Amino acid sequence: MNDPVDVLIIGAGASGAAVAWSLAETKMHILCLEQGGWMNPATYPSTKVVNFNGVGGGTIMYTAHFPRLHPSDFRVKSLDGMADDWPIDYDTLVPFFEENDRMMGVSGLAGDPGVPPRNPPMPPLPLGRSGAMLAKAMNRLGWHWWPSDTTVATVDYEGRARCINLGHCTPACAQGAKASTDITYWPAAQRAGVELRTHCRVREITTNEHGMAAGVVYYDADGIEQFQAAEVVVLACNGVGTPRLLLNSASGRFPDGLANSSGLVGKNLMFHPYAQVYGYVDEATDSNRAPPTCLWSKEFYETDPSRGFVRGYTFQFGRGVGPVAEAVASEAKGLLPWGAGHHAAFRRLNGHRLGLSAICEDLPEEHNRVTLDPVLKDRNGIPAPRIDYRIGENTARMMEHGIARAKEILAAAEATEICVNSPILYGGWHLLGTARMGTDPARSVVNEWGRSHDVKNLFIVDGSLFVTSGGVNPTSTIQALALYIADQMKERLANLFD
Ligand SMILES: Cc1cc2nc3c(=O)[nH]c(=O)nc-3n(C[C@H](O)[C@H](O)[C@H](O)COP(=O)(O)OP(=O)(O)OC[C@H]3O[C@@H](n4cnc5c(N)ncnc54)[C@H](O)[C@@H]3O)c2cc1C
Ligand code: SF4
Repeated sequence: MNDPVDVLIIGAGASGAAVAWSLAETKMHILCLEQGGWMNPATYPSTKVVNFNGVGGGTIMYTAHFPRLHPSDFRVKSLDGMADDWPIDYDTLVPFFEENDRMMGVSGLAGDPGVPPRNPPMPPLPLGRSGAMLAKAMNRLGWHWWPSDTTVATVDYEGRARCINLGHCTPACAQGAKASTDITYWPAAQRAGVELRTHCRVREITTNEHGMAAGVVYYDADGIEQFQAAEVVVLACNGVGTPRLLLNSASGRFPDGLANSSGLVGKNLMFHPYAQVYGYVDEATDSNRAPPTCLWSKEFYETDPSRGFVRGYTFQFGRGVGPVAEAVASEAKGLLPWGAGHHAAFRRLNGHRLGLSAICEDLPEEHNRVTLDPVLKDRNGIPAPRIDYRIGENTARMMEHGIARAKEILAAAEATEICVNSPILYGGWHLLGTARMGTDPARSVVNEWGRSHDVKNLFIVDGSLFVTSGGVNPTSTIQALALYIADQMKERLANLFD
């Protein structure tokens, strides 16, 4: 039997790391259980998978593009008459965005007229050849662009070496220049006394006779079932792992799953479908020789009723790809013939690609959901998550709009042989909305500071909390929310255990 702890965090990814670090100053006994292990940046493989279980969570495999949600994203119901408003606003999160920018180490350029004021602690990534070509094309069209905020270190920062532009960021950075929480928050949290147990997969959260969370049942590294008692349980398992665990914690008292009196656990799953468009220019680009994202555009972010849809999208401008990816993709698109002409065609394509993606806001729809698979189980016998999802009509119209504008941008850059991938097939990395926050217990799973309406010592801090998805990559906002919730918990320490 393990000694009881004060706070038990499940999941050591983006949000779990942030909440652990923030709560550490309370000197409570804090334990984090993570189903995966530690990574060694020096041995990162070069193959790509689309999600990651381990210390750092999704931040090991993310692209490090680090925009924030906009103020309007927190007021979609009021502004657009769709979905719901968040129970908090952008200004509430500002101090936590700033703290997270310092902890993760954000590079960017202040002064962007397209977003609220912010002061990234490091200078932006260089635009490079592709960035400069795309920026000139945007200037020709008179459309907004700005160097992206990223969590790639552009100068040596807090023990992290600066980026050396090798362009291999998404499947993890061996240089340690890309911020993942195993090299940012976790070392600081552990130095401050937080315990992190790896290869421990939680099966369910148990409750006591008062309907409070009592602790968790998990499988340790040897596959042995263990019980860990805790005064407070914090879920940080992402928008799929968190509803999976809550649904798997059903009991006589909570027959539909824990914290699920609203029936919304697992529902309103949002992904951000990506519409990717690219083409080829005569001039050589810098292809994949730098972090993949260098610019964003907010030109089409806010609602304009004349477009035929509400809300909007961010354009995320990418560089090219490496030679193998170029060969595989252009062969599939019919641009690269076999036999005579193969090498000449490859030389014309390789290192000449310019591309961009529209990250489209996904509105919450209850039929998009995570449930427990009735048949499939993981190796510990825990039911696998089953995902039902289809792109909503508003999002589909938004994607068409994004494709048409992206083609205009590429035409302005004098790119030809335009290719479209919409939605990109290897997408679905932004896992949001499946345990939303709100003040009404009938319409939300947790309250405005992340506490379950039903189980008072149970908190959620990951992407499940999102009420609407915004049209940006979500991790900056996920971590700011986790720090905000940790702050609320610290303010209410005296009555946290009631
Ligand atoms: C290829 C790729 C590219 C991306 N690019 C970007 C980007 O450029 N910008 C951006 O903002 N975001 C990006 N993302 C998304 C980003 O990684 C996520 O938004 C972020 O990591 C989510 O944080 P989280 O805390 O909600 O969950 P995660 O970081 O996923 O952490 C959840 C953790 O919980 C653990 N866990 C789950 N269930 C259990 C259990 N039962 N027991 C124990 N542990 C458990 C998991 O192993 C995991 O470590 C990308 C993701 C991928 C995969
Ligand atoms: S280009 Fe990417 S992988 Fe290479 S050093 Fe910079 S951040 Fe790391």
